[in-house]
Amino acid sequence: MVEDVAIVGGGPAGAYLGYRLAQKGVYATIYDDSHPREKPCGGGITPFTLERFPLLKGVPTSYRFIHRMLFISPQGREAMVSGQSLMNVSREHLDWYLLQKAVDSGAKLIEERVTGIEERADGWLIRTQKGEYRSRLVIGADGVHSVVRRATVGRIPRENLGACIGYFARGVERDYSVIRFHKDCKGYAWIFPRETHSSIGVGTDTRYARNLTSYLNEFIEDYCPNIEKISPFGAIMPAARDPKFYETPCSGRNWVLIGDAAGHVDPILGEGIRYAIWGAELAAEAILDGEPAKFDALWREAYYPDFIEACRLCEFVYNPDILELGVTMVARSETLARIVTDLVASEQTYRGLMDRVIASLPQIMSEQENKG
Ligand SMILES: Cc1cc2nc3c(=O)[nH]c(=O)nc-3n(C[C@H](O)[C@H](O)[C@H](O)COP(=O)(O)OP(=O)(O)OC[C@H]3O[C@@H](n4cnc5c(N)ncnc54)[C@H](O)[C@@H]3O)c2cc1C
Repeated sequence: MVEDVAIVGGGPAGAYLGYRLAQKGVYATIYDDSHPREKPCGGGITPFTLERFPLLKGVPTSYRFIHRMLFISPQGREAMVSGQSLMNVSREHLDWYLLQKAVDSGAKLIEERVTGIEERADGWLIRTQKGEYRSRLVIGADGVHSVVRRATVGRIPRENLGACIGYFARGVERDYSVIRFHKDCKGYAWIFPRETHSSIGVGTDTRYARNLTSYLNEFIEDYCPNIEKISPFGAIMPAARDPKFYETPCSGRNWVLIGDAAGHVDPILGEGIRYAIWGAELAAEAILDGEPAKFDALWREAYYPDFIEACRLCEFVYNPDILELGVTMVARSETLARIVTDLVASEQTYRGLMDRVIASLPQIMSEQENKG
């Protein structure tokens, strides 16, 4: 039997797409053999994302709202910001909840891992560890190592990937998140407290991945030495450095890539859940219009300009001198702290960021002097 829509991967992107399609009477087949499972992730979901996609608010358990974030400069200066609440959620629970939403709405789940896909005259042949299936349309929602991406546009180039390692752990006695910027390369270490445990980790781009173990050990020693480690994790994630990366198509006549498979992750902060869900929503629109290839136009209109601006700003933002100055100034300026909070909360886009900072400079400078 030839199915109409096969979604490879039932993480946030694939599950949300299955759910959206089912709501409109299109019952896709989702292939994923991994759930329920924890996934390497901070699990931080921004207020923007929660408001835009209220389904996420319904996750029944294992989340915690965190109202403050401590930024630490490469040399150890600190600035606490508050004013926006991020939901830190266990990916085991979030992903399972979204997948159940899709299935309860009518999507079919095949709990098998896809080993390869091939294009045939009438669509796609989908091979799993257990059998073969056919579908007219295939969606790659299978994360950063996507088999669908490999069969359509090829792997994400290494220079546009990041690497992370860390632990899920108990015993973090902080009611705020922590971001500590590295001394000598792009990226940061984090503590994201959750309901029953915390996500603690370090990330950078793949060029510096060999430093990660020492960064992680040093970070834990300095900021959370008494944690009880539950399990270690390591992961690769999209982290575009070259704006040209985004020129690669993410859809064609009978295929679409969404979420990490498309490389749709904020290149500065690493936020990907928002784009997994947003991309799924746009892919549903294109599929329901009978024009899967239209997905490219839709995501480019929605969030491509912000990715491009983030790529341009990335080197500047992660310059150690800029980070040192930035954290120092944030600690002394409520106005600048507000801008940073809005950025982390996704209320401030990268596109408008520098204009807002420049327009606020007189106020920021006077606040520096008052606190000096
Ligand atoms: C360490 C780390 C920390 C992060 N922290 C945050 C954060 O705090 N906030 C945030 O917004 N984002 C964060 N991200 C990014 C976020 O995790 C991803 O962008 C998001 O999970 C992408 O969703 P997705 O559905 O596209 O892919 P995934 O979540 O990777 O889901 C893909 C699914 O496809 C399945 N799959 C893979 N291959 C196959 C196959 N061959 N056959 C069948 N199924 C398959 C997998 O089992 C998985 O269930 C972080 C990422 C990492 C690595």
